[in-house]
Amino acid sequence: MNLTDSAILGSIIETLPFGICIISTDNWKVEMVNENYAAIYSKPKHALLDWSVDYLIAQGHSLELKAIKESATHKKTITTLPADIVVERDGKKEHITVSALYSPVTDASGRVTKVAVWITKHQNINAMTSGGITRPKYDLGNINALINEIPTGVAVLSGRDLIFESINPSFQDLVPEKELIGKPFLKAFPELTGSELEHSLKRVWIEGILLNFIDHLVPLFNRSGILEERYFTYRLIPRFDDQKNVDGIFIFTSEVTHAIDNKANLERTSNNLNQIINMLPASVVIIRYDHLEVEMINDANLEYWKKTREEVIGRPFLEILPDLADQPFAGQLRRVMETGEIIDVKESPVMFTEADGTIRETFVDYTYQPLVGLDGKRDGVLVMSFEITDRVLARRQLEQYADQLLAANDQLSVVNSKLSKSESRFKYVFEKAPVAIGLLRGKNFVVESANRKILEVWGKSESIVGLTLADALPEIKDQPFLGLLNEVYKTGKPFYANEIRAMLMHEDELKEIFFNVVYQPVADAEGQIADILVVAADVTEQVNARKAVERSEAYFKMLAELVPAKISNALPTGEVTFFNKKWLEFAGMNFEDMRDFGYNQLIHPDEIEKFRKGLAEAAVSGKPYLSEMRFKNKKGTYIWHLNIASPIFDEDGQMTMWVGSATDIQTLKEEEQRKNDFIGMVSHELKTPITSVNIYLQLLLRKAEKAEDEFLKKIYIQSIKQIKHMTDMINGFLDVSRLESGKLHIDKNDFLLSELVEEVREDYQLQFPTHQIYFAEVPEIEINADQLKIAQVLNNLVGNAVKYSENGTNVFVSFEKTDHKVRVLVKDEGMGIKADNLKKLFDRYYRVEQESKIAGFGIGLYLCAEIIEAHGGKVWAESEYGTGSTFYFELPLSGIV
Ligand code: ADP
Repeated sequence: MNLTDSAILGSIIETLPFGICIISTDNWKVEMVNENYAAIYSKPKHALLDWSVDYLIAQGHSLELKAIKESATHKKTITTLPADIVVERDGKKEHITVSALYSPVTDASGRVTKVAVWITKHQNINAMTSGGITRPKYDLGNINALINEIPTGVAVLSGRDLIFESINPSFQDLVPEKELIGKPFLKAFPELTGSELEHSLKRVWIEGILLNFIDHLVPLFNRSGILEERYFTYRLIPRFDDQKNVDGIFIFTSEVTHAIDNKANLERTSNNLNQIINMLPASVVIIRYDHLEVEMINDANLEYWKKTREEVIGRPFLEILPDLADQPFAGQLRRVMETGEIIDVKESPVMFTEADGTIRETFVDYTYQPLVGLDGKRDGVLVMSFEITDRVLARRQLEQYADQLLAANDQLSVVNSKLSKSESRFKYVFEKAPVAIGLLRGKNFVVESANRKILEVWGKSESIVGLTLADALPEIKDQPFLGLLNEVYKTGKPFYANEIRAMLMHEDELKEIFFNVVYQPVADAEGQIADILVVAADVTEQVNARKAVERSEAYFKMLAELVPAKISNALPTGEVTFFNKKWLEFAGMNFEDMRDFGYNQLIHPDEIEKFRKGLAEAAVSGKPYLSEMRFKNKKGTYIWHLNIASPIFDEDGQMTMWVGSATDIQTLKEEEQRKNDFIGMVSHELKTPITSVNIYLQLLLRKAEKAEDEFLKKIYIQSIKQIKHMTDMINGFLDVSRLESGKLHIDKNDFLLSELVEEVREDYQLQFPTHQIYFAEVPEIEINADQLKIAQVLNNLVGNAVKYSENGTNVFVSFEKTDHKVRVLVKDEGMGIKADNLKKLFDRYYRVEQESKIAGFGIGLYLCAEIIEAHGGKVWAESEYGTGSTFYFELPLSGIV
């Protein structure tokens, strides 16, 4: 436990079985002492308070200012050697031995504010021997009773073996089933042999230091002998004998397992929530209790407030943003908590006072929603807001210009005498304005004035001033503008529109332009509508950009509907945003149903796990994930599909979406199945006659040997070899068809690798007399595998090495052992393999094209790969074309898989 400045400190120090004196680092004076300390010097507590350390030392106290200061500056605990001192008790002088330990006390911010001195008193040896007691005893004063009461576990270990000498009930409560007294520590807790705790006890014993551990993991056996993760906060304190040697150790401990578990859970859940709210495009903050404390806030909101997370979490809202006190928010927040109503406000101004005193005016749409606490009471508010300052300001600017112009115009009509001056001012505002402005006079809309911007938008020069709008812009004849202007002229009501589309002639070319526009009627002195003021902002670029996005989305959807595959589109979170028609038809659902609960239910249960893993890998690697998987159609039948899930990334490498395509491969699969079944059946049927032929040939061979007919013998041996080839081939096909139907059975046993090698090596010399086959020394290792199948793999690789190299060349078989694996290498001096072909070798029915026809079917290596992968290993080849190849396979060692 970290001692912190707090009210609890007082009660803790009184509870502990030591003399304790707390010294303030501000002035090196005594700030607190406990009864035990005062009793050592036979003084009442108050007589020691507020005195300086120097004064106490002068009074004969066993204290060292140097140690105190060192403990404070280096923030570490310091032990000093026991010292003999003389104290006066009841008027008599008494010799005692005390040892002191100095530990720093920090405040919440980690600054050392005090030093705690822990004093232990040893009985004077002379006094003890005279009483006939030989072994010096640690004096706990009169506090044994107290120790029994305190909620902290206390144990005294004595001697080199750390035998439990005494424990208090709280300590026993930690391990209620164990008997501890009289047992050495490691006998009582064998599970801690070699643990950090054992190591620490040794250090305390050897170095005589005090050690402190906070929230430490100490795995202990439970009642049923299973290791349980438990957490303790504990302190190990050496006990000294009168020779100043350590003769025992005190353990003070309390269990914190629950607190740790809760903390971890809490952190996990709040972390999830934090991530979610951070992803929202809105500002989010959760405010709780009457004092409006900020409990949680997302990044968007921090940015809006211009604060850091540290500045706001746990602090009252109005303390963080005092400038909002005279705005309505605090009152509204409390109202939501009181009444439970939801407050929803649009375009609310919010004023912040910046550090330099300027006012930042912002606008937000916000909602306040009541939150209910754990106790079921309303005690908080979820605030969600969207800042719309830009939007509001842009619109305001438009309105403002319209107003300004109106005002200018009023002046114009009212104060005729100042006409020229006003007009020039009016012109000035007109020209400088960053928006397009024009004034249309009378019911024919004569262009009275037009600023540079509006001429640009219209694509015309100043020469149109004085023309009617219809003549100035003949291209708008069939567009809605003249009608709209007429309406404004007639009704006197202004017209507003956003992103209105116009086709305007720009240098002989019709151009599509979008703008936000206001038609503001202007009345003359009599109150009759005389003019219309046009204020417009060109927003073509924004609209085009947005349309481009919409268009590419539309293209994607169109394309998705045209292709024969099932196409889907999803957010990086996995939430699907689009299924094409083929998908919906296949599933027999509408989009909403399929999105909400359909898609995952369509996947065959056996494939869900693998699919999830594949997606997770694709999201990391950025490569599309390809898999053959089954989806359930509307009739409830699972249909095989080739599914491709591609993660799509933007220029910054952020994933933006998933695009999925699934193609029906059911017919292909079925055909493949039929072919496999056929091969399986034929191979099976061939097996029996061939076995018989083999037996007959063996008999005939024996007969020929007896008759010493060399000619026949040679023929029979050749035939037997051919039959063996055929048997191997048929077995290969049988294995393939078993593999396809998932029936390849791996039967694992423990065996020595050397055993397997011994079995095959002699066989090889007979089988392959054309080549020298060398075996390196086999490491002494046991593997857990299907012995027959591994032998089959080795046969295959050695067989290929012989088959694909000239007679008279060598084949080397060697072994390498690493930590958890064994690797087998088969190296030949044959024709080698081109780099392009290396990867494909292990595919089913794959054969390298070659001029010299060497017989084979391309299934040997495929089977090898399947067998090794079924063992959790891998197989690969390296080769230099024309020089030779090396094939490798690797298996995990026993006990690891
Ligand atoms: P098969 O030998 O029946 O064709 P495998 O699956 O055993 O079938 O081998 C696939 C192909 O890999 C062979 O056709 C051959 O082209 C090539 N290959 C295998 N082993 C070697 C080797 N040691 N050297 C050169 N090429 C090899």
